[in-house]
Amino acid sequence: MSYSELILLLVIFFLIVLWVFIRKQSSLNRVNELRSFLKQIIDGQSVEIKVDGKMDEVTEVKSLFLDLHRKMENARKDLEENYHKLQLSNLTLEEKYAQAYTLQLIQEEIGRELDSNQLLKKTLDILLGVFGSRRCMIYMVDENQNLVLKEVSGVIASNPLPAIIPLNSDHIYARSCNERRVFTDYNEKDVNEQIKQVGSIVVPLNGRHSCLGIMVMENDMARLTNQDLMDFARLIAQELSLSMENAYLYDKMRKMAIHDGLTGVYNRMYLMNYMVDIFEKKPQQVSVIIFDLDHFKMVNDKFGHLAGDMVLKTTAAIVQKMLQNGILARYGGEEFVMVLPEVDPELAYFIAEKIRCAIEEHEFISEDGVRIPVTLSAGLASYPIDSDSYEVLLQLADEALYEAKNSGRNRVCVASSKSNY
Ligand code: GH3
Ligand code: MG
Ligand code: MG
Repeated sequence: MSYSELILLLVIFFLIVLWVFIRKQSSLNRVNELRSFLKQIIDGQSVEIKVDGKMDEVTEVKSLFLDLHRKMENARKDLEENYHKLQLSNLTLEEKYAQAYTLQLIQEEIGRELDSNQLLKKTLDILLGVFGSRRCMIYMVDENQNLVLKEVSGVIASNPLPAIIPLNSDHIYARSCNERRVFTDYNEKDVNEQIKQVGSIVVPLNGRHSCLGIMVMENDMARLTNQDLMDFARLIAQELSLSMENAYLYDKMRKMAIHDGLTGVYNRMYLMNYMVDIFEKKPQQVSVIIFDLDHFKMVNDKFGHLAGDMVLKTTAAIVQKMLQNGILARYGGEEFVMVLPEVDPELAYFIAEKIRCAIEEHEFISEDGVRIPVTLSAGLASYPIDSDSYEVLLQLADEALYEAKNSGRNRVCVASSKSNY
């Protein structure tokens, strides 16, 4: 090999080494570029890929990474959004669960209650607790078509409340009842010497056939505008309406069970229980009077059964009005018993006489406008002078009545031979 050939070989070798070195250096640069690109992505910096002409492998890898990163970023955002939604629906669910549980408690608490006054009290306590109201009221519709204030709880020393609101008025409470829908009323009120926005929500108590009344809750504005709470108030009103109707029905049945259907005074069963109760209380004295209409069969025969009914009803009403302490009961067809606790025989005789005169003087008029002559006879017996047993007292009063009938009617006779009035 010649010298020049050796030089050429060395130059070629040197060029090869240089070429390898440059290639290695350039690869290292690209790796570093890729590393800093990835670091930028990891650090959350915004990155861009510049492509001049044809895309090389590194730029391609960068673009793939960027795509992957964007996809992961979007997936993370979706996940976060869903998590947030889940949290919200969890909260709503928890709230709904709490409401359902409260409603169940309310159902248990008021569903069993048959005393209408207790029912209203319990419901108001629940409303105060659930709604955090300042004051709650319940108005019920009475037989004269008025809304009557029945119960108040909470801050009683607030602005005064109307006791009666006619249903035919323009008052928001009357409107809620008539239109059978919820009303809200916002006001500026002086709360603890500070003017605050408070308001009331008026919820009707809708019965099956008519509005039974309304419940009113005075709250601050935030709670009044909460739709969930409004819906919950409606649910409670539904429960209360149902329970009130049950309580009314129970009341009606209870009244029917102890009252006489025609005259409205107590019936014989109630009379007997009352006598037992009175004597258990160890009274000082008790007087019993039995009244029986004279020749009542004739009234029926002459004026008809309906006129007879009218006489019975009117007589019961007159006698009931004259009763101050004690009870009046229908004992039989046209017989009434009056029980007067702590009334001595003398006063009882006076009362019986007054009743006899009142009936004699009353003008009973038939449908044809004819006066029906009505009188009654009475028998009186008293504890302890005549007997200390209520059964014997009734028997003795009946015997005295028999005597009154036999001695001419329209008079009062007393059982005790010792009594002489
Ligand atoms: P006395 O003076 O002896 O009591 O004679 P009386 O006719 O009143 O007595 P009696 O016992 O013979 O008749 C009672 C009548 O009362 C018979 C019955 O038809 C009538 N009566 C009982 N219950 C009712 C009722 O609910 N309505 C009506 N219209 N009449 C009744
Ligand atoms: Mg009679
Ligand atoms: Mg009779």
